[in-house]
Amino acid sequence: MTTILDGKKTSATIRAEVAAEVAELTAQQGRAPGLTVILVGEDPGSQVYVRNKERACAEAGIVSVAHRLPASTTQAELEALVDALNADDSVDGILLQLPLPQGLDSQKLLDRIDPDKDVDGFHPVSVGRLALGLPGFRSCTPAGVIELLDRHGIDPSGKRAVIVGRSNIVGKPLALLLMQGWKGGNATVTVCHTRTPDLKKECLDADILVAAVGRPRMISGDMVREGAVVVDVGINRTEEGLCGDVDFESAKEKAAAITPVPGGVGPMTIAMLLKNTLRAYKLHQGLEAW
Ligand code: NDP
Repeated sequence: MTTILDGKKTSATIRAEVAAEVAELTAQQGRAPGLTVILVGEDPGSQVYVRNKERACAEAGIVSVAHRLPASTTQAELEALVDALNADDSVDGILLQLPLPQGLDSQKLLDRIDPDKDVDGFHPVSVGRLALGLPGFRSCTPAGVIELLDRHGIDPSGKRAVIVGRSNIVGKPLALLLMQGWKGGNATVTVCHTRTPDLKKECLDADILVAAVGRPRMISGDMVREGAVVVDVGINRTEEGLCGDVDFESAKEKAAAITPVPGGVGPMTIAMLLKNTLRAYKLHQGLEAW
């Protein structure tokens, strides 16, 4: 029988754990953790994501503040806002919702965020720490994949992991998480992309196959090895509704375990954001160090 890796349920468990710790620490420290989100423009997907993040924060006892700014906001105004948030003691985490409207330089803004408030894990310092195998903020979606596997008793150690997609926000950091010599790592990792000559052959080698491509149902059952674990990061809006990068029905026939879309990796991303915000708060309050 194929195990469904239930991200919704796992995320609810993690969110409850975070909420319990937040309640205890808020009483002890006299201040709740604070997350500030910067949202520029009217991108409908981003609006939904930010609303979901606000709701999740409220449920966990984290104070969330969203700066909703018009698409006409200038780079200089955004840089000034980031500087102000870096200096604000009530702000533990800063999240710049991407994508930004055209003409704004997101990398320059991400670089400006205080690395100790970088709860999205996109700052070069966070990425560098990950690459070096040092403690630091991990970006939420790849960290969510590792946590989802862990909480279902799946240890990547010694396994062959194949990731389709090499983006800075998913494929690349996930490859690093899976290959490092720590808990949730120690896999032998292959990263595929548009220049990979025989994608099917690579996928069929995978004990753990991760799709982070952005192409609806591109990974079909005939690309999945019998007994593999299949993780679908994709979120694609089609006329029939949301679907992943994996053809769930055919892949399920082969996989030992598989994530659904929706309800798989997506909810884990928000749970990891809450965890990162709690971590940022503990750093800020001097309760923990890296
Ligand atoms: P990007 O578009 O940044 O990257 C896609 C990657 O897939 C690229 O590396 C690209 O290769 C590769 N790719 C595209 N087509 C093919 C192909 N035919 N064969 C092999 N490789 C291919 O996407 P993201 O990483 O940002 O997102 C991937 C998916 O994950 C999207 O559906 C997105 O919505 C979803 N997502 C979900 C999140 C969640 O919380 N669940 C969070 C973030 C993203 P190349 O580099 O050569 O162009």
